[in-house]
Amino acid sequence: MEEKSYFLRDKNSILNTYNRIPIEISYGEGVYLISKNGDRYLDFFSGLAVNALGYNHPGIKEAINLQITKYNHLSNYYLNPTQIELAELLLKCSGMSGVFFTNSGTEAVEASLKIIRKAHGPDKQIISFTNSFHGRSYGSLSLGGKNKYKEAFLPMLPNIKQINFNDVQELKTSIDVNTAAVFIEFFQGEGGINLVSNEFVTELKKLKSEIEFAIIADEVQTGIGRTGKTFSFNHFDILPDIILLAKSLGGGLPLGSVLTNKKYSDVLSKGDHGSTFGGNPVACAAGIIIMEEIIENRLYDKVLELGNYFISELNIIKDRYPDKISEVRGKGFMIGVEMKFNCSEIIKSLRQKKILANCTNSNVIRILPPLISQKKDIDFFLYNFDESLKEI
Ligand SMILES: *Cc1c(COP(=O)(O)O)cnc(C)c1O
Repeated sequence: MEEKSYFLRDKNSILNTYNRIPIEISYGEGVYLISKNGDRYLDFFSGLAVNALGYNHPGIKEAINLQITKYNHLSNYYLNPTQIELAELLLKCSGMSGVFFTNSGTEAVEASLKIIRKAHGPDKQIISFTNSFHGRSYGSLSLGGKNKYKEAFLPMLPNIKQINFNDVQELKTSIDVNTAAVFIEFFQGEGGINLVSNEFVTELKKLKSEIEFAIIADEVQTGIGRTGKTFSFNHFDILPDIILLAKSLGGGLPLGSVLTNKKYSDVLSKGDHGSTFGGNPVACAAGIIIMEEIIENRLYDKVLELGNYFISELNIIKDRYPDKISEVRGKGFMIGVEMKFNCSEIIKSLRQKKILANCTNSNVIRILPPLISQKKDIDFFLYNFDESLKEI
């Protein structure tokens, strides 16, 4: 009997929530994913900003192996030195004073919502933005600014309000003594790589100096060097009260964290929150390597420099195809190319040229190269992107 393909078996066994890309990946190596039939794909999607150091990174492999030989899990009832070491690295680069570890970005958002509700009470309002994305569970979904993700799942949590991203006037009229917190992605990822404006940040900062609300920076996608700085808010003159991380933090293993400043570090007391797996020692061991390579060794400086080159070259391409590209946005290795039409065709064409990228918000090509990408990788992308544009 002929063996059924994995695509068919996938369809018959896994819930139908994902759009599968029609390639079977065998393994990864550096910035490449290698398919079953031997094709090498340049991965400018990085497992959705997770694989910051690419695939099969020797340091991450070694750290994971070493930790597994000691223990691969330890309940949070016990001291966990690997967790502590990673926490100290996170506090050092952020200026925050406490860490709670989770398994995902969504869980980091949920933990921070609980901190805000406990600190400010149930009646105060939480503000988030149109087009924002914070996760898929009820709290994080309630914050998210895209109705299409919520419609089928009502009701949402009360006392959360979305206002227009970058609308200074609406921000001014929405924030008052009744505001508990503002959840913000300074660079919106899922929403189409939308950068916050300087004017908006200035107003947010001014309001915060007058009213006691918390700023929660969702750095789940942007954090740890992705935008060419440690955090995306480092591009502005502002310091949040709480920082949320995940995606790249565990070097490919599930790991997220909530970093809190002094004011919010003692809000939760024993038993208020917890997680069986959060801060898993193997994930934290990989996280330490991520922090050493990207933050301690300042890999993000190179990301900023190469990102500037990438963006300026993309703008040159944009000028050649004014009828196809409307805008290039981003910083570092978080770049969006907004097309004048749905971008699924161009993603397909790039895939035929052995390049993987993503399409978000239906017409924005989202480019998230591994942070270890070199100029030659960017040039390979640029050449083939131009070729794809010619064809489409
Ligand atoms: C991906 C993402 C999340 C959710 O993270 P998960 O690990 O998928 O739960 C939250 N916020 C932002 C900004 C994200 O990009």
